[in-house]
Amino acid sequence: MKNVIEDVACASCCCVCDEIQVTTDGQQITEVQTPCLQGQAWFDRSSQSEHLEPSVKGVAVSHLEAIQRAAELIQQAQSPLIYGMYQSATDSQRAAISLADQIGATIDTGAASATRALQQVGEASCTLGEVRSRADLIIYWGADAFRGTECHRNSLNRRAADLPRKIVTISGEETDFGDNVDQSISLEPGNELELIWSLRALLKDIDLEENQSAGLSTSDLQSLVSLIRQSQYIVIFFGPEFKRGPFAHRNIEALSLLVREIQAERRCHTLNVPGVGETRGAETVLAWQTGYAASVNFAAGYPRYSPREYSANQLLEQTETDLCILVGAQPLSGLSELALERLSETPLILTGPVAFEQFKTEVFLPTGVSGIHFPGVVYRLDGTPIPLRGYLPTGLPSEADVLSEIRALLKRT
Ligand code: SF4
Repeated sequence: MKNVIEDVACASCCCVCDEIQVTTDGQQITEVQTPCLQGQAWFDRSSQSEHLEPSVKGVAVSHLEAIQRAAELIQQAQSPLIYGMYQSATDSQRAAISLADQIGATIDTGAASATRALQQVGEASCTLGEVRSRADLIIYWGADAFRGTECHRNSLNRRAADLPRKIVTISGEETDFGDNVDQSISLEPGNELELIWSLRALLKDIDLEENQSAGLSTSDLQSLVSLIRQSQYIVIFFGPEFKRGPFAHRNIEALSLLVREIQAERRCHTLNVPGVGETRGAETVLAWQTGYAASVNFAAGYPRYSPREYSANQLLEQTETDLCILVGAQPLSGLSELALERLSETPLILTGPVAFEQFKTEVFLPTGVSGIHFPGVVYRLDGTPIPLRGYLPTGLPSEADVLSEIRALLKRT
């Protein structure tokens, strides 16, 4: 029977668009009105996941056999690692943390650099609704792909018509989305800290020499400073380009200092635009469950945090883990090349709505999709929790069910 469902949320990316119309025949999605192809692909996953089967070493087995093998592997492991949780709902993230706690594992997410910085200096943030209604200057720093998304542009265009707004982009690459950008700054990658320091100096009326301005002309910098001084409500979206490299957390810390200084006279907020695979929400759940937002180790029987020692990349690169439990749809994102190389030699348990071919998994436990088959909650990039609905039946369990079943079996043995 045809069923039209309004205001469905898409959990494929950090925008979590929640005004999508989905038509189903009661068993499958027959039509989706999404603003983008990535969203379409996420809704298509509902039919693809139905064909997935639990397996051990690539051989199809029953769900119970796969759970039992996963429990055996965990019991044999000395130093297990749980990683991923991108696109996972908060109940899956909570279940992953409980499992890590029970088995003394390390758990990490793909949002380590932002989390590290924000733990040091805090975050002055706002919601997308406030950006739409109040921001009179928006700066996109390394977040051009996000600026170009249709859902973000539509959201901004719903603002009050009489709110004047200036747009500035700072990027290493020139992109033209056909919108009116008031200032476009081309910045060589790696010069982010210098630019932030130059802006802080100019905002304090300290003169700069040409060679002190991050390779930019001082007139470019002065015009950005005057835009900042003319504005009352500034929002800086910083994206994947801004967070590249091993010292990304330093860039974010420096940006927070700049924002703090601008706030002395006007409102200024930052919004972190996650890259592909960078979780938004898992760090929140980790923080409320353990007190730490990433890279948490339970080997001592209580949570310990060390952003380097317990980061997934470090553990894999140094071959310090003997079992990796990957959770979610894109569990490899955020791993370095060396970590991926080491991962190919590490026994893997994968649970999620997508199988992957690159690595041989010891155990694969397929799941349905939160937001299509199961209700749940995911976090939008501005930190707003968005409820997800489950509106299609499935024979598959959820990620949270799988992780809880493994926990229950381990408790009994
Ligand atoms: S922009 Fe993101 S949340 Fe919105 S429909 Fe596309 S993939 Fe889904």
